[in-house]
Amino acid sequence: MTSLIPSSRLEGLPGYGRGRATDALAFRHRLGSNECDAPPSADVIAAAYTSLAGANRYPDLRGETLSAELARRFGLDATEVAVSAGSVVLLEQLVRAYCDLGDEVVSGWRSYEAYPIIVGGAGATLVEAPLDEHHRIDPKTILAAIGPATRAVILCNPNNPTGTALAPDTLNRLIEAIPPDVLVIVDEAYAEFNSAATRQASAGLARRGNVAVLRTFSKAWGLAGMRIGYCLADPAIVGALQAVQPPFPLPAPAIAMAVAALGDEAGLRRRVTQAQVQRTTMIEELRAIGLPVAESAANFIWLPLDEDAEDLSRQFQDHGIAVRCFAGAGVRITTGTETDTDAVLAAVTQANERLK
Ligand SMILES: *Cc1c(COP(=O)(O)O)cnc(C)c1O
Repeated sequence: MTSLIPSSRLEGLPGYGRGRATDALAFRHRLGSNECDAPPSADVIAAAYTSLAGANRYPDLRGETLSAELARRFGLDATEVAVSAGSVVLLEQLVRAYCDLGDEVVSGWRSYEAYPIIVGGAGATLVEAPLDEHHRIDPKTILAAIGPATRAVILCNPNNPTGTALAPDTLNRLIEAIPPDVLVIVDEAYAEFNSAATRQASAGLARRGNVAVLRTFSKAWGLAGMRIGYCLADPAIVGALQAVQPPFPLPAPAIAMAVAALGDEAGLRRRVTQAQVQRTTMIEELRAIGLPVAESAANFIWLPLDEDAEDLSRQFQDHGIAVRCFAGAGVRITTGTETDTDAVLAAVTQANERLK
């Protein structure tokens, strides 16, 4: 029993629902959390083992070994890169660095479920700017939502859970229309799966004085369990983020695995190609069956089913397939192997037969 009362900021924060797959290993097809289905390569695992022999020492103060590697990759200076235990932590640090109590953060909505938790937990208010009819971030609603209390705008591109992406010129025009004293956080957790997005585009965004690009090793790099994210931004933004960042943001094995993974460009291409192939198949086949499916530039697809979302999720569950259900809104299905895609299509076909 405790008589302690937590901060009033905690009132009304939504919970973070886990993809069902991770709760129940009983699922044969774990398509609920946008993870990579393949384990890390032997070289990447060996790098972690090697680092363990030095576990008596503290790791890099700011993860410098990894940020130097990333800076090289993106053609940036090391002062333009920050790393931490997941890009969600970097997002939280940006909000804490730039927002005071009661300040507003605008985000397209529906978007990533962690945003309300992170923004609300930091004492700021998330202002939701509705997506357009194609489930894309809508520059009009974003700009309309920006007011005198707005300190930051989050643009999730490609957007989770809808999978849609803004074209680079649309994104650039939107960013240019946002006041320069508002921080623009571009969450690019799925950028590697988006054929239009290139490394150089991210580096270009990061060179703008009011933009922070967030990336992660959790999705296309297949290292979700190691919790590694990075931020590309102007040195002043990186400095503000690091001013609120506790020291030693990444454990040594995580740094070692990320650096080793960066050396395996072929592995990245394999994972990205598989996701792109499987998402195209799923989208085409599900649309042929008559289901609504949004365009996707990510490693998942979005079925905007409104009130039918829970019903279809249950059907998947009965077939041993874990997906992410957003009750009353839609179902998000992560791309997996060809076998996973076949299972998804078989489950939907059967559900359809029953309805006839
Ligand atoms: C998965 C995801 C993240 C999480 O990244 P971590 O680096 O694992 O914290 C961030 N943003 C979005 C939109 C995601 O879907």
